[in-house]
Amino acid sequence: MSQSIDHIVVLGGGTAGWLTASILAAEFDTQAGIKVTLIESPSTPTIGVGEGTWPSMRSTLLKIGIPEKDFISACSATMKQGTLFTGWLRGGEETYYHPFTLPHGFTELNLAEHWSSGAFGQLPFASAVTPQFAVCEAGLAPKQLQVPDYAFTLNYGYHLDAAKFAELLRNHAVNRLGVHHVLTDVTGINASAEGAIQSLTTTSGPVAGDFFVDCSGFRSLLIGEHYQVPLRSQRDILFNDSALAVQVPYDEAQSSIATTTRATAHQAGWFWDIGLQHRRGVGAVFSSAHGERDSVERALDAYLRRTGYTGGLDEASPRLIEFSPGYRESFWQQNCVAIGLSAGFIEPLEASALVLVELSARRLAEQLPRHQAQLGHIAERFNAEFTGRWAQIIEFLKLHYVLSQRDDCDYWKQHRDRSSIPEGLLSKLEEWQYRCPWHQDEHRVDEMFPAASYQYVLYGMGFRTEVDLSVRRNAAAQHQKAISLSHEVQQQAQKLAAHLPAHRQLLEEASVRGFATR
Ligand SMILES: Cc1cc2nc3c(=O)[nH]c(=O)nc-3n(C[C@H](O)[C@H](O)[C@H](O)COP(=O)(O)OP(=O)(O)OC[C@H]3O[C@@H](n4cnc5c(N)ncnc54)[C@H](O)[C@@H]3O)c2cc1C
Repeated sequence: MSQSIDHIVVLGGGTAGWLTASILAAEFDTQAGIKVTLIESPSTPTIGVGEGTWPSMRSTLLKIGIPEKDFISACSATMKQGTLFTGWLRGGEETYYHPFTLPHGFTELNLAEHWSSGAFGQLPFASAVTPQFAVCEAGLAPKQLQVPDYAFTLNYGYHLDAAKFAELLRNHAVNRLGVHHVLTDVTGINASAEGAIQSLTTTSGPVAGDFFVDCSGFRSLLIGEHYQVPLRSQRDILFNDSALAVQVPYDEAQSSIATTTRATAHQAGWFWDIGLQHRRGVGAVFSSAHGERDSVERALDAYLRRTGYTGGLDEASPRLIEFSPGYRESFWQQNCVAIGLSAGFIEPLEASALVLVELSARRLAEQLPRHQAQLGHIAERFNAEFTGRWAQIIEFLKLHYVLSQRDDCDYWKQHRDRSSIPEGLLSKLEEWQYRCPWHQDEHRVDEMFPAASYQYVLYGMGFRTEVDLSVRRNAAAQHQKAISLSHEVQQQAQKLAAHLPAHRQLLEEASVRGFATR
């Protein structure tokens, strides 16, 4: 191993491996600068789920150079404008949205305060503050064909076929970005006396490198098995540790395609429902301590039948995936960093796994040490940043549970047990009783969820902030401003309803013609 860092070896060919290799190879000259090799087992399958992304995926794909049309057709991708939650408050048909678009005039005026003081009557919070609510309800796309690649009218991420996405990334990384691909099984790890990895033993010979990225999935071959970095369990906070996943066809070939992930609560967890172009990806996330597999299967079967798949679970061949909710005590050790499932995993309630892959890979590309002597400092910074990001994600996911009023089963009641709620969230909840979250609250470069996200979940779940706007000198002017912003939202909603195409129609046209060029 040389002292300079010229060769990066990525272990694992799932979404994490190929995204990381692509992001690195898009940053560096892989012919004359830094060589990137990806090793993938021919026999160990990828996890094959992970179908919801954040809007960040648009800039990632733009950066690595895949046209949006190619991505949409190759991955059967659809546009995700947020999440629609059903049954989280009382276990019935009640719903709320967490859309990706910020409330209108977000940095000008905190509309949450005015909504809380009753200025918008009975309008649901999301409906009062963003036209995206109406667009999602109407099943419309977030843009028109004339809007260039990856640009938007309303903010969006994607739903995608995970296996097809890994294949698209592989072809692009190998053929366009110069990533060296080795199909072989890693059987051993060779490290120096100081602990740095020097090479990987594989069934087709050793592969040496200067820096190693562990994208080996739940196996966590480098950071877990080799470096023995423990997993920091989050099971006491987020109980879910299992998932049953199925793929089902639409009831009709031309069915409308949902433009949000649907997250529907059940007695021991929740169902996800993701609409791709040709099929739905559906599953039940659950806590094995609160629900037997049999009863979750029955609930999933009933969900499939009532949402249009008459074949039920028998015809859908469910796959059980078990996981330990948690993340590594550190992600970067010596000359190795873990990205993807090897770094940790918690339930996919806000689809936070792929965005962490994007952020980790981008940070690695930005800060890649050119010399082994730089490693210690960069590793420390990376570990602090991503430990903070995980902690924020866990708090935010827990927020979805602590506001529930469900009393029908232990799962929901125990989620409200004070001992299961992180201290940081408890103190924020106290503050939010008298003050609505706003964008000025946190000035962190590593912020995962903007204050708007907290607002959508809090007020979607019926939380009440007691605000007294009358004490403000400019109360009347602020009230007028709030009313006029909310009117603008309703006008925009009408205008968009008249101009935006149906979601399926846009996807079909985009797959053939593509979007306007930038
Ligand atoms: C039920 C469920 C739902 C999810 N939903 C979402 C979602 O909606 N949004 C989201 O962002 N994320 C989601 N995720 C997470 C997402 O699936 C993963 O983050 C993503 O797929 C990345 O996985 P990976 O590449 O780390 O691991 P994997 O896909 O498991 O890939 C591991 C790779 O390592 C290779 N490998 C392993 N051992 C060896 C060896 N000895 N030698 C060589 N190669 C080896 C394998 O061959 C494979 O290529 C979900 C996860 C689960 C479990």
